[in-house]
Amino acid sequence: MMYDDTTQEVLKQLPKVDSILKRIELLPDFNTYPRTLIVRCIRQVIDAKRQQLLTSQYPVESASYSEDTIYYAIQEKIKQSILPNLRRTINATGVVVHTNLGRSLLSDDAMTHVMDIAKHYSNLEFDIQAGTRGSRYSNVDSIICELTGAEAAMVVNNNAAAVLLCLQTLAYGKEVIISRGELVEIGGSFRMPDVMVKSGVILKEVGTTNKTHLNDYVQAISSESGLFLKVHTSNYAIVGFTSDVSLDKLVKIAHHHHIPVMIDLGSGVFIDLTKYGLPKETTVQETVSTGVDIVTFSGDKLLGGPQAGIIVGQKKYIDAIKKNPLTRALRIDKLTLAALEITLRAYYDENTATQTIPTLRMLLQPIETIKDRAMNLLSFMIDNRTSQFDVSCINRTSKVGGGALPIHEIDSYCVAISHRTISENDIQKLFRQGNPSIIGRIEDGMFLIDLRTVQEQDLPDIKDCFKKIVLMNTI
Ligand SMILES: *Cc1c(COP(=O)(O)O)cnc(C)c1O
Repeated sequence: MMYDDTTQEVLKQLPKVDSILKRIELLPDFNTYPRTLIVRCIRQVIDAKRQQLLTSQYPVESASYSEDTIYYAIQEKIKQSILPNLRRTINATGVVVHTNLGRSLLSDDAMTHVMDIAKHYSNLEFDIQAGTRGSRYSNVDSIICELTGAEAAMVVNNNAAAVLLCLQTLAYGKEVIISRGELVEIGGSFRMPDVMVKSGVILKEVGTTNKTHLNDYVQAISSESGLFLKVHTSNYAIVGFTSDVSLDKLVKIAHHHHIPVMIDLGSGVFIDLTKYGLPKETTVQETVSTGVDIVTFSGDKLLGGPQAGIIVGQKKYIDAIKKNPLTRALRIDKLTLAALEITLRAYYDENTATQTIPTLRMLLQPIETIKDRAMNLLSFMIDNRTSQFDVSCINRTSKVGGGALPIHEIDSYCVAISHRTISENDIQKLFRQGNPSIIGRIEDGMFLIDLRTVQEQDLPDIKDCFKKIVLMNTI
């Protein structure tokens, strides 16, 4: 392939690594960046420019390949490259438990404890009273039992691990009877039928997608039956001509046949949300009181703690689970355990829980608080925009997320941003490129910042980012 003369010329004039390095060395904060990183960034930018030149379909604009342009691009790249890959973002989506954005935020008390445990030795597996080896689970199991009314409890890495471990321990090689309406997929790679196969149990589906009767379960009982499984239909709802079997009815019939029952609640809640105007979500306590043998739920969904899988139920089953060698592979880390214990302790007093656990606080905050925050942001934007930008405060709805109350919309306020010439997708991208990155959503051709999930302390960063966007786009 032949390149035109301009391309050849520009290629020849691309700056050399050494000459850029000399300029970078003059920067006052040069010493704060590792040299290997600087050199790598220089190479990457120059190589990318060369590639761009060789493959571009368009006439070459030599200005975008000048040493100055490349020098500034490299400076940006170096600044970017010292940021951790996993970093803070601002959740302006309105989805409170957002799995892609890290689900639940930890309370201040939980964070303080995590730091204490991280920086010091601890009694993670040491019994201080007896002076002998102890169990890491004993740090939280009695608290979980007290809060839920369960006989025994244990915790693992996440709820997916809890489900896998419980199925394997209780029903390995046996049939697990489950309604066809509950064979759920929870995003990513968690599909109930696949998890069941991997845990070594045999899936025995009963009923239909929309209707399963008690008799369907009874008909399926045989000498091969190992377990009845119920799964919370976390991220969807079957509505219309439907019926399913309540947990207490299933427990009665199962126990009559000496078969244990397990329920995967997905997002466990300890608080009756109807008191706060949200729809009914069966609490863990109510679930335990049916006499069900095993209950599993997540630590970082509605509970508002760290990533964890919590298992509660009959002591004989929990003891068997603790002895399963797989438990070691799925065990909870000490920092997670530290955060979980403090989150759980907040639930001893409901007001403490709803005020200190961020997930609950964001979910239950009064609508006026959200509106005030929206108006605060709006007035800043009005003062700092150009006339090209349209900004307004609008009443919209947000979601719980995390597979809880999937079809419920909660009243919220958003700041809506649009621009005469910049598309809503480009506005979304500009906010996403902020530091911290601001993740909002698009509705009706506008970029929305939903103030339900924006923390008070996030506001200055959003304002800064908006100011920069306005400056960059004012010519
Ligand atoms: C979310 C969910 C899981 C997985 O829980 P993780 O804590 O994310 O592992 C399993 N089952 C149900 C019903 C869920 O909603």
